[in-house]
Amino acid sequence: TRVLLTGGSGFIAAHVLDLLLKNGHSVVTTVRSLEKAQKIKDAYPQVSKDKLDFAIVEDISKPDAFDEAVKSEPPFEAVLHTASPFHFNVTDAKKDLLDPAIIGTTGILKAIKKSAPSVKRVVITSSFAAIWDQTKKPGHVYSEQDWNQVTLEDAEKNPADAYRASKTFAERAAWEFVEKEKPNFTVATINPPMVFGPVINYLNDLSSINTSNSRVADLIQGKWKNEIPPTGLILWVDVRDVALAHVKAFELDSAAGKRHFIIAGYYSNKETADIVRKNFPELASKLPTESTPGGDYPEGAKPGFDNSRAVNELGIKFRPYEESVVDLVKSLQAIGA
Ligand code: NDP
Repeated sequence: TRVLLTGGSGFIAAHVLDLLLKNGHSVVTTVRSLEKAQKIKDAYPQVSKDKLDFAIVEDISKPDAFDEAVKSEPPFEAVLHTASPFHFNVTDAKKDLLDPAIIGTTGILKAIKKSAPSVKRVVITSSFAAIWDQTKKPGHVYSEQDWNQVTLEDAEKNPADAYRASKTFAERAAWEFVEKEKPNFTVATINPPMVFGPVINYLNDLSSINTSNSRVADLIQGKWKNEIPPTGLILWVDVRDVALAHVKAFELDSAAGKRHFIIAGYYSNKETADIVRKNFPELASKLPTESTPGGDYPEGAKPGFDNSRAVNELGIKFRPYEESVVDLVKSLQAIGA
């Protein structure tokens, strides 16, 4: 299948790209610069231009950003939209997070409807951030039925709410587009919580580690030695399982019109430190010990989760946390940690 993948330089997208190529698909991926395109191209010297090509999209907050990228010969049959900012360096919530997330999503859907009538499926990387609902009781069992109640006013309060609002409003905008515009294509969303796992090293150096993995980079650089930071969201999934979910969500007809909560289970920062201590004895001097305070599960009931759609419909067998952390640490060592 001929596929357009947005944000090919991202942590998750790099794994999606790898899997698409392994599965024999023909991919055009958008990146923000020629330099990033070249790095990806260099990592796949054996792959021909008809299997891997690039389109430059510098800023997805521009409403017409994707107008040219969606046009292709041969034409696209599927679009995987992963590009969206995930960071908390916010000076202006609208400009830094909301606009690229929301306009990025509506912009690409409009461009597909207008100029890429052959596209049958659009898979959008949403998030557990669009599912998590603060109005629910502790211990609530989360599933695809839940929606974050965050408002645009909340987005102004702090960077975490701004990020959650960006993902929630972007996903809502996608479903509203389908309902109102009745396009030729169907939409499926992928909604993961914290994503961990190996970074694909041709794209990364330690200073540019993506947000979810940065805590493990901190750990192995000695930043948790005296105190382990609070875990925050204790739900996680491995990046390779998230990548597989993206690919299944466009390969399978049955994914049309559905959200997919892609979650493996629970983790805490303390468990992460324990796993690294056990598997990487050479790092001992930089790590917290068994008695270092902090990083436990927060008090109270854990949020429940129902991942039966991911397991039964997409066929995902979730990787265990230890494997994810070990592979992540190895990948960080490979880029100089
Ligand atoms: P990364 O930061 O590695 O990837 C983000 C991607 O989006 C990059 O390719 C980035 O390009 C691109 N991007 C961001 N802003 C713009 C912009 N204004 N214009 C053009 N491109 C832009 O993060 P992840 O791989 O973790 O995130 C990918 C997706 O997964 C996002 O939609 C995120 O919300 C979602 N997600 C991530 C989770 C996680 O724990 N990692 C959990 C749940 C959802 P560049 O690198 O050039 O800046």
